[in-house]
Amino acid sequence: MSNETAYASQVRTVYDLTHEELAERLSSWGEPAYRASQVWSQLWKRAATYDQMSDVSPALRERLEDEIPLGVEVLDERLADRGATRKALLRLGGAHVIEVVVMGYRDRATACISSQAGCAMGCTFCATGQMGLMNNLTAGEIAAQAVWARREAAKLPPSTPQRLTNVVFMGMGEPLANERHVLGALGMLTDRAAFGLGARHVTVSTVGLVPGIARLAETHPQVGLAVSLHAASDELRDQLVPPNRLWPLAPLETAIAAWRAATRRRPSIEWAMIDRVNDTEEQAELLAPIARRLSAHVNLIPLNPTPGYPVVGSSPARIRRFVGVLERAKVNVTVRDTRGRTIDAACGQLAQRAAAAE
Ligand code: SAH
Ligand code: SF4
Repeated sequence: MSNETAYASQVRTVYDLTHEELAERLSSWGEPAYRASQVWSQLWKRAATYDQMSDVSPALRERLEDEIPLGVEVLDERLADRGATRKALLRLGGAHVIEVVVMGYRDRATACISSQAGCAMGCTFCATGQMGLMNNLTAGEIAAQAVWARREAAKLPPSTPQRLTNVVFMGMGEPLANERHVLGALGMLTDRAAFGLGARHVTVSTVGLVPGIARLAETHPQVGLAVSLHAASDELRDQLVPPNRLWPLAPLETAIAAWRAATRRRPSIEWAMIDRVNDTEEQAELLAPIARRLSAHVNLIPLNPTPGYPVVGSSPARIRRFVGVLERAKVNVTVRDTRGRTIDAACGQLAQRAAAAE
């Protein structure tokens, strides 16, 4: 995507502007043309805030802050795992409070970003779902979180790459319920003239909104797909993941298969392990053929306890049994590590606590 393409349709942060729009604003203030490029590359490449732009005059920095606010305020920051997990509560566009996490590993550093403040999908076990939807984020508000994460990644421990290598849409919100802005954000993140991350290093996680999966394949075929399945029978999935009533397992599997055929990439299936609810051998046996047909990678997530859902996560023994069934069926499966438990670094919990405290 080039600079000429307008990817944002609503402007709430400076990141919602195209390079051209920024240039027009600065030229109307009498600034030379190169100034816009200077500010643009500081914003996107160096991940600088206005006050860090030492090559821009203090007067211009002040005017920028007044007239085109950065739109990103850090309300709270927390660290866990000896600094390898770093989480922020951000206020975006002066109004929307969301959370973003960056996790450093030996070989990568991944940002987990939010697409909405809250979520309307109502998955019973999810803290964000328990909040309901407050707002959609704009493309710039979404991309700005990756910019924060790029800046923050430099502070990760030396045992990590100390630079951002991956972005996943696994924070708050359902990306495909805010499709226009999420597709816009994907444009910004993968545009070499803007954020410039390889599309293969970006993954969208969805609860399974079927029409959006096809459009993701059309518009961003290199971007990865993770589908939050959590149940392999419609009866159980209807309870855990309400959108299943609209798009049950059969059409969802067809949509994932079409995505795989169009992109030639391996999809992921996400599965939160909930004690005696979806961690039974019966569910594993129903999941195995679906995962096989899709050549999917199954990612088991130990359940993070949330205030609005009384059931606990599966025991290690039950997780082992579930994994055993899948492995015997030759399904590719891993158990995700639980990063940042002590700072509620999963799915909307920090934001929820902050909202409760206000
Ligand atoms: N709305 C999207 C992306 C955000 S949620 C989706 O549902 O895929 C990111 C992942 O965290 C999803 O797989 C979601 O099901 C999972 N998740 C939500 N609540 C959780 C909890 N309490 N414990 C573990 N995983 C959870
Ligand atoms: Fe929304 Fe995803 Fe949470 Fe479901 S799991 S409520 S889709 S954020």
